[in-house]
Amino acid sequence: MKNKIGIFPGSFDPITVGHKDVILKAAELVDRLIVGIGFNSTKKHHFTIDEREKWVKKTFINHSAILVKKYEGLTVDFARKENAQFIFRGLRSSLDFEYEKQIAESNNIINKKIETIFLLAHNKYAMISSSIVREIIKNKGNIDEFVPIDINISRP
Ligand code: ADP
Repeated sequence: MKNKIGIFPGSFDPITVGHKDVILKAAELVDRLIVGIGFNSTKKHHFTIDEREKWVKKTFINHSAILVKKYEGLTVDFARKENAQFIFRGLRSSLDFEYEKQIAESNNIINKKIETIFLLAHNKYAMISSSIVREIIKNKGNIDEFVPIDINISRP
């Protein structure tokens, strides 16, 4: 039988416990999950692509079915190159849904063979986002509850 392969694309600027929760759920549904760290030259990221990648890799170091790769360009092209049949995205709110629906529909026009699957994080993580973590870092607060425990972001 064909291996089920999915990608979980995102900025992970930085990875949060919300990301970790939905990525682990996605990994349960496929044989191999590739977390794609997006490099978008028009989007301003706070952390470098190498830092973002390092923290995601560290988070899933003990999960052999979860691979982490950087990518540039269209997410559907990345999915096709990885032979993935599924794109996983997480939803926090109805606002996320409206935005994600548009992207999923566009992706489906570009490549009909790739299906987008939406997952919810546990509701205790629903309000956690990378931008909240960046705001806490900026104000020198404690981010321990917001990022996976094995990550130590010491940058001011
Ligand atoms: P992007 O810039 O591509 O939206 P993010 O790193 O912000 O990248 O998010 C990657 C994916 O993870 C998105 O689908 C986002 O909705 C999802 N996500 C982020 N935080 C959460 C959370 N707390 N619960 C559920 N999904 C989340």
